[in-house]
Amino acid sequence: MIIPINSLVQTTSSFTIFTRIMSQPVTVSARFLFFRRHVETPYFLLLRLLSDYILCSWILYSDKLRKMTLQKLLDTLRTARNAALIVGAGISAKNGIPLGYRLPMEFGEQHHQLIKDMGLFETWEKAHRAKDINLQAAFVEGLVRGFEANASFQATLLSWMMTHSAMIGEPSDDHAIFVLAWFRRVFRHLITTNWDFLLEWQIDDLYDQAYSGDPFAPIDFTLSNGATCKVSADRLFFLQPLTDDDVFWHPRWDIISHPKDLQDLRRWSRPLWKIHGSPFFLACPKCGGRTRWKILEPFEVNDPCPIHPDTHLAPELTFWGQSIDVAYPQVWRTVTDRLQRCDMIIASGFSGSGSDIYIRQVIEKNTNAWIVNPSVGSWDTTNVHYIEAYASDLAAGLFDVFLAKH
Ligand SMILES: [Zn+2]
Repeated sequence: MIIPINSLVQTTSSFTIFTRIMSQPVTVSARFLFFRRHVETPYFLLLRLLSDYILCSWILYSDKLRKMTLQKLLDTLRTARNAALIVGAGISAKNGIPLGYRLPMEFGEQHHQLIKDMGLFETWEKAHRAKDINLQAAFVEGLVRGFEANASFQATLLSWMMTHSAMIGEPSDDHAIFVLAWFRRVFRHLITTNWDFLLEWQIDDLYDQAYSGDPFAPIDFTLSNGATCKVSADRLFFLQPLTDDDVFWHPRWDIISHPKDLQDLRRWSRPLWKIHGSPFFLACPKCGGRTRWKILEPFEVNDPCPIHPDTHLAPELTFWGQSIDVAYPQVWRTVTDRLQRCDMIIASGFSGSGSDIYIRQVIEKNTNAWIVNPSVGSWDTTNVHYIEAYASDLAAGLFDVFLAKH
């Protein structure tokens, strides 16, 4: 067959076009229309069919890549030996904890006089009316500055935050499943940026069951739909041999949010990395944190430490616009060391935007990172597997595949 010289040129072009298809599928159709108008030979009809076939296959394949299914994630997790789950505000939205700037904006709405005294009322009002994220950010920035400078303001804000009932914890199937999967070692590391105590509440509930029954028996955990799963006692406790038949049962779990907490880490510990702290923690600069969780100790911001009366308790949390890599670099280094060794990272309900970019960047560097969020947000989908789904979908999948008694 004799191929006209102009067709040879077109042959080269078709290759060029195809290579461009691979990287820029959007620009393809116009190029092909041009291609079709100028090429009439049977050879090129065939070539065109072939190119169309390859093009369609590629588009379908890339679409499939984008829609990585939850099932694929669960299959991958089954083979992972050292996986981490990172959760953010999105997992607690169902429990009524406002996302992002909605929390400080609500605070402004309920404390007009206070924000007037701080000179922030106009900024708040503008942001409230326009519902504009940049204006809201400006208000929050002012709020954080005032917060840092004024202990009585810290007390008002943190006490108000604690009035959100879900902050202190309540039954929640999604949080329970994440905790159960963590204790059952479906994944090794559990990291949260949330201030709320929904995960801790589930953990505490598990331990309450363990303490109230036979300490050697597995715990039966029941979800609100009646489904149950078991956790064996050795996943909750570490048995330290004492004398002869005696052993000491150490609870394995711990919360790490401050450099001082790192000293309590043991080889057998299951630390919950609470990397943004919580309004429920108050810290003495000399002796570390005191929890206000469950209001066991009625401490307030700026109260003197009971052991060091010359010091004042300050909130132990990473505020909006702040980040743990700057606030507590030692804690963040320990977390990143662990994340770098993970063979799989799953993030859910975590947008990784704003002041959390540094966390997103560590996740995106992992070659087996999976994001389960209702929208793609700022995630770089060339580096992560993105699944358009809610944290509840992930929890349901984890329960069915790894936890449910079949
Ligand atoms: Zn102290």
